[in-house]
Amino acid sequence: MKKLIVYDLDGTLAESKAPVDPDMATLLHDLLDVVKVAVISGGDWPQFEKQLLTHLPHDERLKGLSILPTSGTKFYGFAGTWKKLYSEDFTADERNKIINALKTAQAASGFTIQKVWGDVIEDRGSQITFSALGQQAPLEEKVKWDADFAKRKKMKAILDPLIPEFSVQMGGATSIDVTKHGIDKAYGIRKLRDQLAIPLKEMIYIGDALFAGGNDYPVEEAGVVSIPVRGPNETKPVTEAIIACLDPASSARAWKLA
Ligand SMILES: [Mg+2]
Repeated sequence: MKKLIVYDLDGTLAESKAPVDPDMATLLHDLLDVVKVAVISGGDWPQFEKQLLTHLPHDERLKGLSILPTSGTKFYGFAGTWKKLYSEDFTADERNKIINALKTAQAASGFTIQKVWGDVIEDRGSQITFSALGQQAPLEEKVKWDADFAKRKKMKAILDPLIPEFSVQMGGATSIDVTKHGIDKAYGIRKLRDQLAIPLKEMIYIGDALFAGGNDYPVEEAGVVSIPVRGPNETKPVTEAIIACLDPASSARAWKLA
């Protein structure tokens, strides 16, 4: 019997950076009636509030929902309000070293940026993200900036020897994420196992990047039963099926309807 259903956020529960739609919110609320649920993303807490939490009914069922921003280096649970259980933040020295290295690498890479939209360097506590055109850059500008990853590969080659004690990863369309080594979604999954005392074999994971090299792939490699989806419209029937399997009343209803 599965005890925990874990979702990726962007491209799985919602389109990238967009809110969940009303059908998805209703399905998650139904699912929370029969099983515990968790959501893991590389994004930070405000992104979860915007895309997911403000769209869910605010009731007792939220006690069954765990939120893991920045791949599980932060962990939030619900007890009347949302509470941060922990956050594995960089120290001030670590943060300064990373930010200086990013600035050095950008200057040394030799590309010029004409215009930025919002902050270029964002401190997410346990992850520092460089977004070449700024956090609020329009998607059409972002996709053409470094489609072949050439600019970021150059920056990464400069960054790696400057900050070898940290992991430098290219993400999104224009961004570079700096974290401690070994932080990926499998890390978040092990945090869920430890915090909720639920073994990996009693979890199901649903994500849109479960292919080799995708950011959901480490979860499958860690041994969690994983269901690949190509977007929210595939996540919905998968979730309906899980509800029908786990909830005897719901499957009885479905049976009668059939
Ligand atoms: Mg995704």
